[in-house]
Amino acid sequence: MTFDIPKDPTFLGDDVIAEINIDPGFGEYFTDHMALADYDETGWHNDRLVPYGAIPMDPAGAVFHYAQEIFEGLKAYRHADGSVWLFRPHSNAVRFMNSARRMALPELPEEDFMTSVVNLAKLDARWVPGGDEQSLYLRPFMMANESFLGVRAAKTVMYCCIASPVGAYFNSGVQPVDIWVVQEMSRVAQDGTGSAKCGGNYAASLLAGEVGYQKGCSQVLFTDATNHTYVEELGGMNFFMVTAKNELVTPDLNGNVLAGVTRDSLLALAPSLGLTPVERPIKLSEVYEGLDSGDVKEVFACGTAAVVGPIGALKDENGTHLASEHAKTLELRQALCDIQWGRAADPFNWMMRVA
Ligand SMILES: *Cc1c(COP(=O)(O)O)cnc(C)c1O
Repeated sequence: MTFDIPKDPTFLGDDVIAEINIDPGFGEYFTDHMALADYDETGWHNDRLVPYGAIPMDPAGAVFHYAQEIFEGLKAYRHADGSVWLFRPHSNAVRFMNSARRMALPELPEEDFMTSVVNLAKLDARWVPGGDEQSLYLRPFMMANESFLGVRAAKTVMYCCIASPVGAYFNSGVQPVDIWVVQEMSRVAQDGTGSAKCGGNYAASLLAGEVGYQKGCSQVLFTDATNHTYVEELGGMNFFMVTAKNELVTPDLNGNVLAGVTRDSLLALAPSLGLTPVERPIKLSEVYEGLDSGDVKEVFACGTAAVVGPIGALKDENGTHLASEHAKTLELRQALCDIQWGRAADPFNWMMRVA
């Protein structure tokens, strides 16, 4: 598929975009265009870049009833010279294929994912904001749209990619946030869909998020569904800790944890900051005791949207465990942001220029 860029695109005025991009928030405004493609028994076809707008759907569309849906999230960054770059988009393309397999959706070939994302970013490059911490968030997604209430994998599927100018994810910027640790609900089951990036996992996490919010925490940390003994991840971010021995530790990809691109990037950057990357099961008790004794110095969460967010405290019904330091967390964040916004060399060839 080619996702051809239309010859006479209709654009919002530069002044309107500039006004929006002063403070775009997160996921509130959307660019002029979106990418679309259809899948049926003939395969993927009808690829197009069209004006952003509502998608007519039959109420019997399978996604409304059985949640057969997956998504991705990646960003385009404007560098100081005005050029526009994507960060590790191939990783998102591959993960999108993995998610599709788990949800019995057709795989979108890597090159088609890339073409749709690159051409949408090129076409709407004017929307990529240039301010501090700002970027254009790209949201590819795929859903079952067959009009049929029988329960089986749908035979017709739709792919779409939309784009939204964004600022910092948390209003508080990089201020540490408190996290509520959940031990009576799970976002994913053992051998469930934890390694797929699908809307259903998010739906399953929202009630716990509300509970955490009532406890004064902006996010929740989930533990393993079997015994609630091991730390897994947040609703949409991976979990890390920095130990007194200068290890950067994160839960291993056991099938229940999403393979974050940010997670992988921080593990790769760790040695250059004097940290030893470690992926292994982490007991919740180890985190609590480590924070209390000082064996665990720092804890943080990471993902494309918020990059790296320091955690000030982990809380549950039994008490609060404070993380007093955030130095390495902020160094990791800075190192990654410097590559993404083109302020530092890119030793891993992570950046891909699109405009
Ligand atoms: C998307 C996501 C992440 C973060 O992945 P990135 O590729 O770093 O954005 C972490 N956990 C879950 C559950 C996610 O859906």
